[in-house]
Amino acid sequence: MSTPSSGRVAVITGASSGIGAATARALAADGYRIALLARRADRIQALADELGNGSIAIAADVTDRDSLVAAAQRVADELGGADVLINNAGVMLLASFTSEQRAEQRQMVEVNLLGAMTATEVFLDQLRPGGGDLVNLSSVAGRVAHAGGAVYHATKWGVNGWSEALRQELQPDVRVTVIEPGAVATELTNHITDEATKQGVEQFYAATAISPDDVAQVIAFALSRPRSVSLNEILVRPSAQAL
Ligand code: NDP
Repeated sequence: MSTPSSGRVAVITGASSGIGAATARALAADGYRIALLARRADRIQALADELGNGSIAIAADVTDRDSLVAAAQRVADELGGADVLINNAGVMLLASFTSEQRAEQRQMVEVNLLGAMTATEVFLDQLRPGGGDLVNLSSVAGRVAHAGGAVYHATKWGVNGWSEALRQELQPDVRVTVIEPGAVATELTNHITDEATKQGVEQFYAATAISPDDVAQVIAFALSRPRSVSLNEILVRPSAQAL
């Protein structure tokens, strides 16, 4: 028997584009009510309108704990609490490790790693009763490392270690699943400011990337498994991706 999804509430950070938006659509199709969190309020409001079924948009920045606390209050008041938290918000500002990039390095740590930790800490009491799910978006970049990605890799390796410890600590109340995509065609590469790096990454993505819907379907599948089954770490890559 799979986990019944009808009426469950999923909170998705970074729901305004890419994998977050695709996951919102996939889970809404499975009967979830969705709380869409991101900074671009117009985008998430349009998506909430599209999804219907009680889904709501909440402007929130994962680097701002107060905005997450306010979001959690709205989820409790308007949706009765969260059953699933998907820590998806992330930035990939690839560049050589130099002090010129220090603001971007901090941003990656604050969004990808500390943002996920803060959202989890804030929503954890809502997830525990009745058997919750925590899904953390890591990456292939959490298993391998390359020059030019030092801090991005550090955040994703960090997500993996943090998630594995939480998986042990929170069971059986909260099931922890880590999703590790390879190249996925989203807005992620748009924000790279180092032009040479951006060009190379975009060429690689144009030749290789899979769709965010492919990743969203995997997340929906993992959540649909009975609670006795934990898929733990799911690597989902384009078949043509070497690393
Ligand atoms: P997108 O750029 O399309 O989406 C990133 C999302 O993160 C946006 O919705 C953005 O919303 C949100 N975000 C960024 N900063 C903040 C912040 N401070 N507070 C709240 N939300 C924030 O990229 P993807 O969909 O590709 O990325 C989703 C996740 O998947 C990331 O964690 C990424 O590292 C991971 N991933 C992606 C891969 C890929 O190849 N695309 C591969 C492996 C992992 P807004 O700007 O509106 O706040």
